[in-house]
Amino acid sequence: MKRSAVVIGAGLLGTTTSWFLAQRDFDVTVVERRAGPGLETSFANGGLLTPSEADPWNAPGTFGHLLRWLGRENSPLLLRPRALPGMLRWGWRFLRASRPQPHLRSTEATLRLALYSLATLDALDKQLALDYQHLHRGTLKVFRERRGLLDTQRLAERLRPLGLDSRVLDRDAAVALEPLLADAARDLVGAIHYPHDGSGDAYLFTAGLQRHAQAAGVRFQFDTEIDRLQAGARSIQVLHSNRGDIRADVYVLAAGSYSPKLTRPLRLALPIYPVKGYSLTMQAAHGRQLQVPVVDFEQKIVIAPLGDRIRIAGTAEFNGYDTTANTARSTACLQQALALLPKLAGDAAGEGKVTHWTGLRPMTCDGPPILGATPYENLYLNTGHGPLGWTLCAGSAQLVADLVASRSPAVDPQDYSLARFNS
Ligand SMILES: Cc1cc2nc3c(=O)[nH]c(=O)nc-3n(C[C@H](O)[C@H](O)[C@H](O)COP(=O)(O)OP(=O)(O)OC[C@H]3O[C@@H](n4cnc5c(N)ncnc54)[C@H](O)[C@@H]3O)c2cc1C
Repeated sequence: MKRSAVVIGAGLLGTTTSWFLAQRDFDVTVVERRAGPGLETSFANGGLLTPSEADPWNAPGTFGHLLRWLGRENSPLLLRPRALPGMLRWGWRFLRASRPQPHLRSTEATLRLALYSLATLDALDKQLALDYQHLHRGTLKVFRERRGLLDTQRLAERLRPLGLDSRVLDRDAAVALEPLLADAARDLVGAIHYPHDGSGDAYLFTAGLQRHAQAAGVRFQFDTEIDRLQAGARSIQVLHSNRGDIRADVYVLAAGSYSPKLTRPLRLALPIYPVKGYSLTMQAAHGRQLQVPVVDFEQKIVIAPLGDRIRIAGTAEFNGYDTTANTARSTACLQQALALLPKLAGDAAGEGKVTHWTGLRPMTCDGPPILGATPYENLYLNTGHGPLGWTLCAGSAQLVADLVASRSPAVDPQDYSLARFNS
């Protein structure tokens, strides 16, 4: 008889996990509080598939930036003073992990998973022919300050032996690759092209894969909210939901930023903090579509072509589970993007031309996600992917499904284990 598995959450991570568990012959049910898949953080993210962004946000020196930006509405990273009491423990670990050695270790671990993930995504593309506007044109990271360019170049060289390809470009070569940069080119000191990065619409992917998973026998129970995981001494016994109790042989928690809320009553602390970000989506006028996704290094924003649309995303706000849309933050994002690509201003002008969105990145204190086993023998985790959940989803899901099925994963899971926080 097939073993049964329940996945909590139908975002990028839960949906991909359900697919790979079904492929390993599990009888799978996905439980999701929303009316469909991918409607929370996976809905309108930056769209980038970027092993090149493997370095976690707590790079050495972050503390200085945080202090400088404290309370400033238009800064790339905003720490609300009222959020401080709720994030002391996480924040302390975030800063501890920003020492050079731990930071490099986390970067390398994330890069290994990201490269595996993009290969897994390509294999899924071949198998399922999903249509999510997947581009393989790399990303172009642009710099206004030489120091940022040199530091990033140094890191890229260090990561090359692990498989991260990159090419430094001068201003003219950057404009040749992305002609829409021509107007702002005089402000740039150079760029780095990462040819193996990609882009695509994470929501279209999630919704498309959900349909395939359903066709393969996975049950999706929408509008169902898990209130509590009930545990015995060594295992989870039952999930209590607004629609009754749910039982299975194994459970995979993929509830994004809300995962720690579900494990806390079990005395299982997941060091994940919800980091708010914004995106804006607009229709690209004919002939004004980007050729290559652009990453603005100093402003920490990304601008990606998604079919006939353009997606701009960025900013990080530490403000607990607050999901209210702060238009000052998203408007700052838009203005920064238009300063870099002024030709897009026409596409953004006028009532209702731009759709604003906000989401909570489930961010671990050291960068990599938390994958695999817990002290409860039938509870597994696939959560904490922070700013890289789209990039990491396919690899993480395949890895977790392998662990649940007692197979050896293709990537060593140790660097992503919950146990790493005890050492
Ligand atoms: C502005 C922004 C830009 C980003 N850009 C990029 C990018 O360019 N590239 C990249 O790789 N990543 C990017 N990310 C990160 C990426 O979007 C996330 O890491 C990813 O979406 C997380 O997916 P998830 O499945 O873990 O969480 P979610 O998508 O939030 O899914 C979790 C699901 O669990 C459900 N759930 C929660 N609690 C319960 C419960 N109690 N009962 C039932 N269901 C529950 C929720 O409803 C939700 O659907 C970005 C994020 C943001 C905010």
